[in-house]
Amino acid sequence: MDEPQIHELLHQYFGYDSFLDNQEEIVRNIIAGKDLCVVMPTGAGKSLCYQLPILASSGYGIVVSPLISLMKDQVDGLTEKGIPAAYINTTVALKEQHAILTSVRNGMVKLLYVAPERFQTDSFKNFLRETPPAIFVVDEAHCISQWGHDFRPSYAALGRMIDQFRIPQVCAFTATATAKVREDILNLLHRPGMELNVAGFKRPNLAFSVVSCSGNSDKLKILKKLLKKPMPTIIYASTRKNVELVAGEFPDCIPYHAGMTDAQRSEAQDHFMNDKCPVLAATNAFGMGIDRPDVRRVIHFNLTGSIEAYYQEAGRAGRDGENAECILLFSYADRYTQEFLIEMNNPPESAVMQVWNALRSFAAFRNTDTLELTGEAILEKVPDAKSTAQISSALSILEHAGYIDRSYSRISSGELKFTANLRELAEMSKSENTQRTIFISRCIKLYGKRLSEGLSTTTADLASATGLREEQVRKVLAALSNILTWTSRFRGRSITLLKPEERYPQIDFGPMRKKHELDLQHLEDVIRYANAGTCRQAYLISYFGEKVNRWKCGSCDRCTRTSAGKSELTSGLDQKNTVIILSAAAYTNGRLGRGKLSQILAGSRTADIMERSLNRHPFFGKLKFLKQNVILACIRELEGQGLLGTVGDPQYPCIGVTSKGRDFLESSGGGRSAGRNGIPY
Ligand code: ADP
Repeated sequence: MDEPQIHELLHQYFGYDSFLDNQEEIVRNIIAGKDLCVVMPTGAGKSLCYQLPILASSGYGIVVSPLISLMKDQVDGLTEKGIPAAYINTTVALKEQHAILTSVRNGMVKLLYVAPERFQTDSFKNFLRETPPAIFVVDEAHCISQWGHDFRPSYAALGRMIDQFRIPQVCAFTATATAKVREDILNLLHRPGMELNVAGFKRPNLAFSVVSCSGNSDKLKILKKLLKKPMPTIIYASTRKNVELVAGEFPDCIPYHAGMTDAQRSEAQDHFMNDKCPVLAATNAFGMGIDRPDVRRVIHFNLTGSIEAYYQEAGRAGRDGENAECILLFSYADRYTQEFLIEMNNPPESAVMQVWNALRSFAAFRNTDTLELTGEAILEKVPDAKSTAQISSALSILEHAGYIDRSYSRISSGELKFTANLRELAEMSKSENTQRTIFISRCIKLYGKRLSEGLSTTTADLASATGLREEQVRKVLAALSNILTWTSRFRGRSITLLKPEERYPQIDFGPMRKKHELDLQHLEDVIRYANAGTCRQAYLISYFGEKVNRWKCGSCDRCTRTSAGKSELTSGLDQKNTVIILSAAAYTNGRLGRGKLSQILAGSRTADIMERSLNRHPFFGKLKFLKQNVILACIRELEGQGLLGTVGDPQYPCIGVTSKGRDFLESSGGGRSAGRNGIPY
């Protein structure tokens, strides 16, 4: 297809005069018949990249989309523009589905959106056999990988289907894909030769920086300095507690987290959207669907669990294209918080088995397969779990493996208390025969005085006591709030045991172990970002697989060698001290971690130092005029500058001098003191 035709279609169907960055190359490649795997950030205009080539083709295209709501939005938008598109999913009546497939056959529908489960139905398989698509597009393709955040097993079956129906051209689109996920997309779609196109991640208007801090009080000090300059700001923290800590410290800062009521959260959102210069402290619960283009600063009070999460949250700054800052306040201790969160999401296998046993014994004792249990109640019976968070993760694993089903509660337990005079109530309800009066008179007859004291019961029991149905009981309880109180005790989801007879559930823990490993790896990647010595943004976008070559953002702390709010801690890091630290690290030759190295330099005589005779280290006490935490921050700063690096087990890293660090030592005359012990890095 030549130049004018592509632009004509762009104008005719979409009403645009030109392509957005990267669109044209992708469109041309798809029209040329290539299999492409496209990774572009949300909002970069992915859909047009496959819609236009499908319209340009002689056949029709199938678009696999995971969400019914997403499908509907897309198709509604397309039909409004006059583009012949339709979708088939469980919400479409059978007769209509037939009509749609006939239109596809007749060439009246060019874009057919379907959910991945559709390929398992015989009628659709028959249709594909007779009418194969010209182009097959997998949208939200990260769903195919177990390492993607929205894994959908039915996506994994698409490869087989593509082979079976000999689909000529396959393209995959996603906004988030790590190297592992990209690899899975190609392999599981059975298209290993797919060309990868990662583009659009650069955000040149964002200036990234990382500030090393010793802990929360240091972070709050830095925040105080930063917030003196007013501008629309989001401060992300990893826990509700830290959100409250930050919001409590700064009167103009409003909190936002999932522990607040709906009304409080929507008030916080309104404030954020409408105030001229809002400052909001939030957990990652904030952000989805909130689009304020002129956020000038996103500060991370804590590390995120992954680079993807960091880039997504930080990327909420500067959507208007004007300059904005993304600042990470980095304290090494955050690593432990994140590791703890990872542990909570990945319970030990023994705990999962114990949860199953606990559920079975609860069910046997209560003589029912449907249970209403709080996390605390289960935790008491599960010695290997550390918290209710682990219980909840274990329940998800059991649900995933088909052993339980969790749904919003139908039965609910609570306390029923009549606040009006029972005798008068009994008298009044004699004359009428409504659900309310039946409820009152039968309750009084059955429970008597206990109703005034407060009675522990369930809506199911009340239903059988009064002869009403459970939903009627619920309505009556709500309607009679002037004469009674109903305090519902259980607000979670009920658990139904699907295979109560099985003592030892057959669960494949392999993928879970891998997920645990991967979670730790993702955390390591974020820490590596914090310590990165080169352009911050180049580091981030190359993480997503976009080619960087020599590109540099020119505005991050690495490119400009400044820091948004340089920590007081590292202010003592002059050339002389740098040489001492590097020389000490070179001398220990990668055998010690940051903690020990800083203790040696500070001259601390702890039992461990003395026992290991580290006080005889030639650099012992060489920086004793600095506190140990200051030396520690300096070591991290030097790691960040690429002069020091870690070696050995990433969980217990030792510190070594990099080749850049050795060059520095040579050039500053410190090379001699390092001897020949410089570490090959
Ligand atoms: P993605 O799927 O990558 O999140 P969309 O396909 O939803 O992005 O597109 C994002 C926005 O950009 C939409 O509002 C879309 O209409 C608009 N858009 C896409 N292509 C163009 C274009 N060539 N010119 C102008 N606007 C465009």
